[in-house]
Amino acid sequence: MPICAEKGFPENESVFHDTKKYGRTRPDSAALFFQQMKPFFIGSEIYRGSSYGQWHPLHIPRVSTVMDLTRALGWIGPGQYRASPRAKPAALESFHTPDYIAALQQAEALQAVDELSRTRHGLGTTANPVFPEMFRRPATGAGGVMLAAELVREGGVVHVPGGGTHHAMAERANGFCYLNDPVLCLLALRGLGLSRIAYVDIDAHHCDGVEAALGGAEDMVLVSVHEERRWPFTGALEDTGGGRAFNLPVPRGFNDSEMRVVLHRLILPVLERFDPQAVVLQCGADAVEEDPLSRLSLSNNAHVAVALALRDLAPRLIVLGGGGYNPWSVARAWTRVWGALNGWSAAGVLPEEAQAVLGALTWNRRASGRVPPDTWRMTLEDAPREGEVRAEVLERVEALRGREVMALTG
Ligand SMILES: [Zn+2]
Repeated sequence: MPICAEKGFPENESVFHDTKKYGRTRPDSAALFFQQMKPFFIGSEIYRGSSYGQWHPLHIPRVSTVMDLTRALGWIGPGQYRASPRAKPAALESFHTPDYIAALQQAEALQAVDELSRTRHGLGTTANPVFPEMFRRPATGAGGVMLAAELVREGGVVHVPGGGTHHAMAERANGFCYLNDPVLCLLALRGLGLSRIAYVDIDAHHCDGVEAALGGAEDMVLVSVHEERRWPFTGALEDTGGGRAFNLPVPRGFNDSEMRVVLHRLILPVLERFDPQAVVLQCGADAVEEDPLSRLSLSNNAHVAVALALRDLAPRLIVLGGGGYNPWSVARAWTRVWGALNGWSAAGVLPEEAQAVLGALTWNRRASGRVPPDTWRMTLEDAPREGEVRAEVLERVEALRGREVMALTG
């Protein structure tokens, strides 16, 4: 596969308007409108070849695969790709403590941590190991979301698949996350002068770092849908995170039908009442059925539906990545979301060049050399995973709806 340049994809190779390509633009006015809006894609070469270590769930390529797939599909138009800048330490201190940033930089430089860094800052642990780009990579994710905020100053849509590290705390790495770019993104949007900012998180895990930082912020509302009884074991239904967080823990096997109810009965009504000037969507792909770290059963159709509904609800949308530990399903989900935000259809069999990107992936978690299903390599669109809408899901949604009326109209 051709490798994209650090400064961005070559504009003269764009096939954005080549209607013979896979997923040609729908010939309707909505597609024309969104072409004119030109969503931005923020990526970086730092993700290519960077790994948390051979046995870590994040040993797999993710953002670089999305970059290669979107390019193979001709889904990056002129001017749409932006290389993520690396955030400076001073910029990170809008949320993180100077001590922690210094410890993180030092750990990268020395490729080792002392006992204080391990106990006080959570560095050099199994979840947050020492690895070669352990400061530069998250600082690039943070720079990406700060650039995204700047790009939506006047409105628009930006996808930052390297963002979404929602567990990091102000002075502590946590849950594979070193810097909390969602928090930095929300603070950057506040810095633009916006006063109603919504954060929606559909990762399989609760956004404990975001809630701890901003769950009580008067100018924000947070909605998280996550698997119950799963790490980090926060985000209970009753947990308001300081008053502005709506937490919906969902049971194992959570399916597309249930997500549709959650979207239309909870997420959209809460946001419509709040009337946000900007929405940040943490679009973690670990709630997809094939993910090895959770037990939810969504198809990537659910991620697309949520992203499109939120885009239509506010003048600014920033879509982040997040969890996702099956290299095929995470690349397919995020590439599909980017395509959908641009009005591209992902139906049918992928062209050969895109199949080659997915076909080149390997995964050491695959049991006994099992070959991945053809659909992981040949398509982007999952088969729908509809199912029963269970009473416990409905009851929890109704409980939050009742609280929502009191919280946002009081
Ligand atoms: Zn997750």
